Amino acid sequence: MTDTMTRPKITVVGSANVDLTFRTPRLPVPGETFAGHSLHQGMGGKGANQAVVAARLGAEVAFVARVGNDGFATQAIDAYQTDGINTSFVQHSKDQPTGTAAILVDDDAENCIIVVAGANAELNADDVRSAKDVIAFSDVVICQLETPVEAALEAFKLARAANVLTMLTPAPAELVSDELLSLCDVCVPNKTEIAAITGCSVETQADCAAAAEQLRQRGVRQVALTMGGEGVLVLDRSGMSLIPASPVKAVDTTGAGDAFTGALAVSLAEGMSLADAATRAGIVAAISVTRVGTQTSFPSLDEINRWKQ
Ligand code: ATP
Repeated sequence: MTDTMTRPKITVVGSANVDLTFRTPRLPVPGETFAGHSLHQGMGGKGANQAVVAARLGAEVAFVARVGNDGFATQAIDAYQTDGINTSFVQHSKDQPTGTAAILVDDDAENCIIVVAGANAELNADDVRSAKDVIAFSDVVICQLETPVEAALEAFKLARAANVLTMLTPAPAELVSDELLSLCDVCVPNKTEIAAITGCSVETQADCAAAAEQLRQRGVRQVALTMGGEGVLVLDRSGMSLIPASPVKAVDTTGAGDAFTGALAVSLAEGMSLADAATRAGIVAAISVTRVGTQTSFPSLDEINRWKQ
């Protein structure tokens, strides 16, 4: 039986967005107004996505984030609480809106996206320090860089001081610093991100392995490089291994990386090796790509257990 003593404890420090997806016959040109097909509102932001997937997999999750003082903030917090996430450390910014993405998708599946960071840009080291105790009692702390780097640095320093595992989604890659990498136990880049951070080519598996090795030389302890439908390249103490992706019919891969990362954190918190954790996280991500949407596509623990049988 899972109880509060044995549930994995994950703290996520990062972004909270509302995603507005407009389906349109085609993308507009400057000055044009025309009718779209439909509007769908969903929750997004890498931080929120990772928090939601970890909670659905049974972890006790605390989310450190910033939203505005608006209707979107109320809806986002309600949604996180419905997933059982501790929102005590979600602060409200007075003058900034909740982060919002406007996503236009046309009939050919081409898209244009505008993201307004809003309150996400105000997440700061003091916000993170207010969650010091919950960080210290976590098994894993996850950060991404859609919120200011100072928040991630503070979270990783507090985690390291308490011997808590630190996990980084290095996106956007241009914000990654050597200081951040030196505080990172598990880095989970995709191919584009690792190429941007290391300057390495990522055309072949050997290239990817060399890029992962370079991250380790810069201070990262372990690397799980996600490669979409090819799977995951894992670099840990026992060396490099390729974990193939589960063969599924992909319908919408949005949020696959976040599904993978949130699930990886839960499995590592349960004591699995990085390779075993990546295998399980790959199943979670594979299920998510068979469905449309981001957080709506993340599976529950029951579904994962059924998948294994
Ligand atoms: P996104 O930015 O869309 O969230 P990402 O680029 O960060 O994704 P990917 O490397 O595309 O992340 O995918 C993460 C993981 O999801 C992969 O390592 C794999 O385990 C799983 N995955 C992605 N695409 C597929 C697919 N087509 N079939 C099976 N599994 C997939």
